[in-house]
Amino acid sequence: CGIVGYIGDRQAAPILLDGLSKLEYRGYDSAGIAVFDGSSINMTKAKGRLKVLEELTHDGETLPGKMGIGHTRWATHGEPSNTNAHPHLNKTESIAVVHNGIIENYLKLKKKLINKGYEFVSDTDTEVIAHLLDYYYDGNPLRAITKVMHRMEGSYALGIIFKDFPDELYAVRKDSPLIVGHTKDGCIIASDVPAVLKYTRDVYFIENEEIVRMEKDAMEFFNVDEEQIEKESTHIEWDV
Ligand code: GLU
Repeated sequence: CGIVGYIGDRQAAPILLDGLSKLEYRGYDSAGIAVFDGSSINMTKAKGRLKVLEELTHDGETLPGKMGIGHTRWATHGEPSNTNAHPHLNKTESIAVVHNGIIENYLKLKKKLINKGYEFVSDTDTEVIAHLLDYYYDGNPLRAITKVMHRMEGSYALGIIFKDFPDELYAVRKDSPLIVGHTKDGCIIASDVPAVLKYTRDVYFIENEEIVRMEKDAMEFFNVDEEQIEKESTHIEWDV
């Protein structure tokens, strides 16, 4: 029920774990993080408290790398379990996704993907997103994301990593909240303001069907037609 993401000069895992702890109030039954170390996407997921994930990863030390995504899950499709916890990957582990929300037409999409030879390991609606991204990916992450957006019905806030693009982190949303901001050393995404306040007070509220492409020192916004759009940041005055 919460997502976070980071790309920058610092180790991602401790920032992801810290961000997830600030989103605990939203409720969850399991948690997970995926960090890209420059050659592979490494992932740890655990049913239960965030503390379990912190212990398993030695507070993030077992997952080195400067880009990553994290998730606290409130199960809607598939029981709370290590396998159903996010992130979810495509078969070649070259795309990783975290998702808040519900993909209403996931069964239809899942059947189509199975007919095309895709194998599912979880019972979640979210896993269709990882395989659908794989299906549409032809070297252009933005194109794959917009094609998937056209196919999905329901609500989603997504954080997405493409192994082919080690310097880029993607996020998109529809009917689930998502904010992004520049930190001193990178960019951060989260479901809600408390997760980023330690790092920035200037945030962009992502609107429905907007996509953001982050590099460590740059952020670009796009609509579902892949056109670049301008956005204004909001200064957060309040404290948590
Ligand atoms: N529908 C997804 C699942 O059950 C995401 C739930 C959430 O928002 O945490 O895995």
